[in-house]
Amino acid sequence: MHSVSRLFTPSLRLAAVQNNAGALSRFYSTQHDADLVVIGSGPGGYVGAIKAAQLGMKTICIEKNATCGGTCLNVGCIPSKSLLHNSHYYHLAASGEMAKRGIITGEVKLDLGTLMEAKDNSVKALTGGIKMLFKNNKVTHVEGHGKITGQNEVSVLAKDGSVSDVINTKNIMIATGSEVTPFPGIEMDEERIVSSTGALSLKEVPKKMVLIGAGVIGVELGSVWSRLGTEVTAIEFLGHVGGMGIDMEISKNFQRICQKQGLKFKLNTKVVSARREGDTVKVGVEGVKDGKTEELEADVLLVCVGRRPFTNNLGLEEIGIEKDERGRIPVNSRFQTVIPNIYAIGDCIHGPMLAHKAEDEGIIAAEGMLGAPVHIDYNCVPSVIYTHPEVAWVGKSEEDLKSEGVEYAVGKFPLIANSRAKTVGETDGMVKILSDKNTDKLLGAHIIGTGAGEMINEAALAMEYGASCEDIARVCHAHPTFSEAFREGNIAAWQGKAINC
Ligand code: FAD
Ligand code: NAD
Repeated sequence: MHSVSRLFTPSLRLAAVQNNAGALSRFYSTQHDADLVVIGSGPGGYVGAIKAAQLGMKTICIEKNATCGGTCLNVGCIPSKSLLHNSHYYHLAASGEMAKRGIITGEVKLDLGTLMEAKDNSVKALTGGIKMLFKNNKVTHVEGHGKITGQNEVSVLAKDGSVSDVINTKNIMIATGSEVTPFPGIEMDEERIVSSTGALSLKEVPKKMVLIGAGVIGVELGSVWSRLGTEVTAIEFLGHVGGMGIDMEISKNFQRICQKQGLKFKLNTKVVSARREGDTVKVGVEGVKDGKTEELEADVLLVCVGRRPFTNNLGLEEIGIEKDERGRIPVNSRFQTVIPNIYAIGDCIHGPMLAHKAEDEGIIAAEGMLGAPVHIDYNCVPSVIYTHPEVAWVGKSEEDLKSEGVEYAVGKFPLIANSRAKTVGETDGMVKILSDKNTDKLLGAHIIGTGAGEMINEAALAMEYGASCEDIARVCHAHPTFSEAFREGNIAAWQGKAINC
């Protein structure tokens, strides 16, 4: 649990990195065009490139798309969060929720074009921002497809496949990310049968949407369209919603909340076929347990059954880097592939496919190139589902602890007993804390509620520092805040009883 990096204070680590950086970059620069070529400018690649440049490495970042930022900024985190935020406002006004709070709006209308424009503007501002950051940090941005053509060589391919540049480099960081996992036998036309990318830019609000997979994308984008007026049915192979890693008690509560908001779920059900007939899509489904079949009709089918690493035409096979059974690039604990000066980070390697995980790996892999200690504790990487209310967790779920045979204590605190939640009328949700029964060490935090995605960072910090529930309980928390519910959950885990319920 305790990281190797904890042996160094932050200032000592930085000093070690900077000392090495100066010496090594002077050496590298005389031998190569670059100290580091980063392939891919997603959150892993662009952050890794900036960190490397800040540490004194002559850094080039190659991106095949016209805009930087990868999946996250272009077709992932950023556009989806814009749509989630603004569709929530629309829903508040259109559902009469505002009127209940004394705000009379008159007739509420949706202007889908403007909603999409706001999303596009946020994407534009942030992707453009990366070019500025590159410039300010002296990262050279090269547009083109990066292909590794030697242990110290990356070729840049133009759109027509011709080689536009060849870069001789000391190190290479592969940060090529992931792509949508296709569904065998179902062709996505991004119009009626769409991936998350198509679902972020529909031109009109569909009457009916079926989605395959009630994981993170399913519930987030399902919520967006449901709030805008679509009847949404999610088909999920598993018996729960929210994807892998979610605590089952939290998942059940989350499902209840989503259903109250209008989302329908068919759990333990798989899609067996889908075909487009004019403007409708016919979807054949089958019960996993009972084998019962049914045909559903929708205007739009959203396929969101996961993502897979993207490593097309990267030159891996030629250079001798073999992928694992899931298409990921194997790396050691310093993010080195079998070729020590070729590193890989982010969605194209093991671990959760999350932007913040990719960023952290980009930073520590760059530091590691200059000799710094490299450590990441994946158990402390938080997960957030940005619905309303949000769902967030870090560490172990109750199911994990049971299967690992750990003796644990549980502390729960319902948001109905939190003064801020009551004040703003957002009381649906809870905090669930899991701790070691013998040592009181925090092992897992699971939250449903407004602001859960912000609150979870406090839990992650506590876990990184090996805090006990008593440690958290004794920290003064501002009042009235949702975070007080997190503190109360820790009091309940530590002493068996919270104060306010
Ligand atoms: P990517 O972001 O995929 O970037 C890889 C980049 O490499 C791309 O720009 C690609 O064009 C480029 N590239 C690939 N091959 C080459 C090549 N050979 N040469 C040059 N360039 C190349 N995560 C979260 O943490 N929070 C969220 O809220 C969230 N929401 C999401 C919503 C949706 C709809 C989706 C689809 C994903 C979401 N994710 C979210 C996941 C997140 O987007 C990814 O985990 C993250 O983008 C991974 O970062 P990366 O840098 O590894 O790869
Ligand atoms: P996911 O793994 O979260 O969910 C996919 C779901 O599809 C799973 O529940 C799976 O059981 C189900 N499924 C698979 N095959 C099926 C079938 N044949 N029939 C019915 N159900 C089936 O994947 P996703 O929602 O596509 O998201 C992809 C990745 O993007 C995830 O790794 C996620 O971490 C990331 N992401 C993160 C966020 C966030 O952090 N808020 C948001 C969106 C996406």
